[in-house]
Formats: sequence, C-alpha cells, structure tokens
Amino acid sequence: MSSSQKVGFVSLGCPKALVDSERILTQLRMEGYEIVPSYDQADIVVVNTCGFIDSAKQESLDTIGEALNENGRVLVTGCMGAQAEDITAAHPQVLGISGPQAYEQVVAQVHQHLPPSKSHDPYVDLVPSQGVKLTPRHYAYLKISEGCNHRCSFCIIPSMRGKLVSRPVGEVLEEAERLVEAGVRELLVISQDTSAYGVDSKYLTGFWNGRPIKADLQGLCEALGELGVWVRLHYVYPYPHVDRIIPLMADGRILPYLDIPFQHASPTVLKAMRRPAAAENTLLRIQQWRQQCPELTLRSTFIVGFPGETDEDFDILLDFLAEAQLDRVGCFEYSPVDGARANDLTDHVPDSLKRERWERFMAVQQEISRDKLATKVGQRIDVLIDSVDEEGAIGRSSADAPEIDGVVYLASHPSLAPGNLVEVVVQDSDDYDLQASVSIS
Ligand code: SF4
Repeated sequence: MSSSQKVGFVSLGCPKALVDSERILTQLRMEGYEIVPSYDQADIVVVNTCGFIDSAKQESLDTIGEALNENGRVLVTGCMGAQAEDITAAHPQVLGISGPQAYEQVVAQVHQHLPPSKSHDPYVDLVPSQGVKLTPRHYAYLKISEGCNHRCSFCIIPSMRGKLVSRPVGEVLEEAERLVEAGVRELLVISQDTSAYGVDSKYLTGFWNGRPIKADLQGLCEALGELGVWVRLHYVYPYPHVDRIIPLMADGRILPYLDIPFQHASPTVLKAMRRPAAAENTLLRIQQWRQQCPELTLRSTFIVGFPGETDEDFDILLDFLAEAQLDRVGCFEYSPVDGARANDLTDHVPDSLKRERWERFMAVQQEISRDKLATKVGQRIDVLIDSVDEEGAIGRSSADAPEIDGVVYLASHPSLAPGNLVEVVVQDSDDYDLQASVSIS
C-alpha cells in the first residue's frame, strides 16, 4: 500500500489553465505526492479555477463548495484566485488561495497543509519525462507566454494575469522537444496573444541545441516546424508580421491553420472593444494569405450584442462573414464580466435582440461551413486519430483543433489507434464534420 500523501485536483477553465494545472501536478508528483481521482481518497484537494466570465466564476465557486463538502480540506488557485475576497465571502473555510500561474505559491500551500512524505525517493517515484499531462497523450498545449499587453474593454485577463511575459525561446523549444519525445504528435501553441511573442523581451535571441533562435513568432515557428509534428497556432492577431508565417504553412512546416479571434468587423464596435489590430485591412490580408497558402484554415470567434452595436454594425459583421468565408467560427452573445470596462458603456443591447442576432449570425456561418466542407468530399486528407471504439474512430484534420472545431468520423478499421496519423478519403460532409474512410493506396 502506498504511504504517499494524496492530492485531489480539479482543473477548470481554458487550455491555458490546463497548462498551469499540468505544471502544478508535475511538481507535486516530482515531490512524491500521489494524485488521486476522487475526493474521498484525497488528503487535500486543489481547485484550479477560471474567472473569465461570470458563469465560469459561478462554476468555480460551486466546485469549491463541492470539494469542501466532499473532502473539507481545499486550496484554491488560478484566475479566480485573483479575486480572493469573492472566494472567502462564499467559502471562508478554504485553507489557502493563490492567483494564476502561482505555481510556487500553491505548491508551498500544499507543503504547509500536507507536508511531503519523508519516504519519497526521487529515484523510485519517477515522473514521466514529459511531465504530467491532462490532455490525451498525442496532443499537448504549449504555452509560450503569460499575460497580455492589450486592454480589450470586455476582458479582465490583463488585470488578473498582468502584462505579457514571454517564456525564453530555448525553454519553450526544449519543452516542445520533450513532449514530442514522449509521443506527442500535435503541439497547440497558446498564449493570450501569440502574435506578440517576444515583444516584451525585445525578441532576445535564445539558444536551442546550441543554435541561436530569434525569440519572435517567426523564429519560434521555424524551429517548431523542425520537430516533425503538427504545430497549430491559436490566438493570433492579424498584424502585418503574421504574413511571414504563411510561407511556413504553405511549405508544410507548420499546420495551415490560424485561430484569429476577430470578435467583430464593424470599426465602431472594434474601437469600443479596444481590440488589437482593429485598424488592419483584414479582408485584404486574408485574401493575400489564401493566395499564398490556399489550404489555409481560418478559425475565429465573434461577440454579438456588444454595448452600442447597432443594426448597421451587425450588418457590417454579416457582410464580413459572407466575404471572409472563414472555415471555423464560434459566436457568443455579449455578457458583462465583473470588473470589465465595457460594463460602463451605454446602449446595452436587450437580451432578445442579442439572441436574434446570434441566430442570424449562426445561420449565415452554418451555410458557409456546410458549403466549404462539401468541397472536401472526394479529397485525400491526413487525419490524426483521437479515439477509437467498436463503432469507429474519430480523428481531426489540419482544419480541426481539438475541442473547438469539427471532427472526421471514420468507419472502424483494425489498424487504427489514438495518435495514428493516417491518410483518408472524404466520403461525405455535413454542417461541421466530415465522414471519411481510410485510404488504401
Ligand atoms: S487580447 Fe484582449 S481579450 Fe485577449 S487577453 Fe488581451 S485583453 Fe483580453
């Protein structure tokens, strides 16, 4: 029977929070703590919270309450930890609170309330070389920076996470290399603003395997492209320097995929949102990118019903959508976030109108998505297999990021296993997904 100290861990929130959880878990495992999957087995429970929007905060508070009821000894960390008074008001019994990326602090709190077992032998209690990962083994999020230099009026992340701090390029690449050695086949590059990578460190050159690498988006992507796995970029803004990444996509060195959260298209709304790169001629830029790299998949998210959004602004957005022909699109109805400056704006849009606009927006995009996917029928594409069961397999192509985009359904095939990269022929399509069969060549 194991004598190690047992920690339960609940991870809420976005992929960035997941990366924080993985780091904390890796550290605890290294120190000999055992991570257990249930409240009743745990000596203490850590809840990594999300505080991005009010519903996420409520979920965080509910989860803390559940952990207190089921276990009683609870530490809270993550985004909501930056608003400690809200947590203590609801749950004064929590043992400790730390904010986002406070790895040392949360680990120190675990030490304080549950000292590490003396019998821990670092040579026996080995941590896998890639650390502890919560995502499936064949894909992993690679966080390249923390914080954000922008001040979008609907967002409180900069006040919670601070200004942009880029991780040294050598450190990022070493982590990526370790992940690939451990079996990862797809790296999902994340941050609050991936296009701003290196701005804070003045693009200070770093070293990887003895070679100098410039710490900017291009230098990072070129180096990641050498690892021989899928590299997918999230949260990129359409700045002119992003043009330099497109040839790497056209050459197949990184995936031809860009996740650009446009949020709106009307200049008035973008200004009120204080969005980065709002003044760029986005449609022209998209057109040029597609000329250079026709297989480029563009993903984006939008907000409808932002305060002050008029019928005319909304029509501009729908026209943009029709013109831009984006491949993957998510849309949210605006909802106020505690502490965000957008709350002070006038002319809030009534909920019924927000819903109506959301429905109209989604109808337009659904048709675009359906038509775009229909053009893929008959094509051969590469698919990374995520899961396999007796009914068949589910995979993703270069156009599909995990959890947010569509998938490719495959009939069962004896040789398929998660993490396989296979060539398939697309047989059919619907609004968001594809059906395909493994190509026998
Ligand atoms: S770019 Fe805007 S929305 Fe994104 S984290 Fe920064 S402030 Fe928030």
